[in-house]
Amino acid sequence: MSYRGRFAPSPTGDLHLGGARTALAAWLAARAAGGAYVVRVEDLDGPRVVPGAEERILEDLAWLGLDWDEGPDAGGPHAPYRQSLRLARYDAAVERLLAEGRAFRCWCSRAEVARAAAAPHGPADDGPRYPGTCRALPTPPPNDLRYRRRPSVRLRVDAEEIAFVDGVHGRTVEDPAATIGDFVIRRADGIPAYQLAVVVDDAAMAISDVVRGDDLVGSTARQLVLYRALGATPPRFAHVPLVLGPDGARLSKRHGSISVRALRDRGRSREAVVGLLASTLGLVPAGTGCAPRDLVSAFALDRILRSPTTLDPNAL
Ligand SMILES: [Zn+2]
Repeated sequence: MSYRGRFAPSPTGDLHLGGARTALAAWLAARAAGGAYVVRVEDLDGPRVVPGAEERILEDLAWLGLDWDEGPDAGGPHAPYRQSLRLARYDAAVERLLAEGRAFRCWCSRAEVARAAAAPHGPADDGPRYPGTCRALPTPPPNDLRYRRRPSVRLRVDAEEIAFVDGVHGRTVEDPAATIGDFVIRRADGIPAYQLAVVVDDAAMAISDVVRGDDLVGSTARQLVLYRALGATPPRFAHVPLVLGPDGARLSKRHGSISVRALRDRGRSREAVVGLLASTLGLVPAGTGCAPRDLVSAFALDRILRSPTTLDPNAL
């Protein structure tokens, strides 16, 4: 399989330095392998989508010197490259998993899952482990009010250690049945869950290598379970360690202006911004100015720093 990498921003605001750093790492990995680079806009979280943010993100990527072979503006053989235009594909995957008995409908509310959960908590942002309430309930009892609300759909996750070799961190093992349990692949409001949409798209777009932020390392085991359920070949994964603010907390707006746009507006050069991002990946010494293409020939995933690094946006 030829190398195909991607960057998948959510248009919820301007491109921030953490996202730009991930975009750079994924671009370098793709270009160093002589592969293609795809931009896919992940805009399923409707209420958080900011009008115009997609155009601004693409402008900022281009300003940094990153280019892409396929994307919402460039088109390509796997169009559309915007998730809100791909809903029929996600529904088809969910319906197939339901028909094959690999997924089931769940009528539990969030509060019910929290109350019934046996294990205290899975990974922080994923809430409590699903206790399996609706697993063995193929047809809800008629006239029971509880089953009149729209159900979500969950994937069956059986107890099993899922192992993968991460391009940055090496061998990683997780048992998603123990930490998360059967997870939601389509919400009760009909919106596909992040995990499902990402897997359906990466498979359909023949992505061979996913280079993304460390905050998603906990998603990988679930995504591997989904790849198998869908009969698709999973990509290789590499998770880039997070970038932290000067105080050691995850880089956020309270550390100052952390968008590429803000640095542009302050008159910083693209070489200075790219150099800053590359230095936090461990690819160049701090204070180096460079263009992305200068970094391609020497790039290798195992040169990326394995521990979180700090970045002070005010220092630039
Ligand atoms: Zn349930």
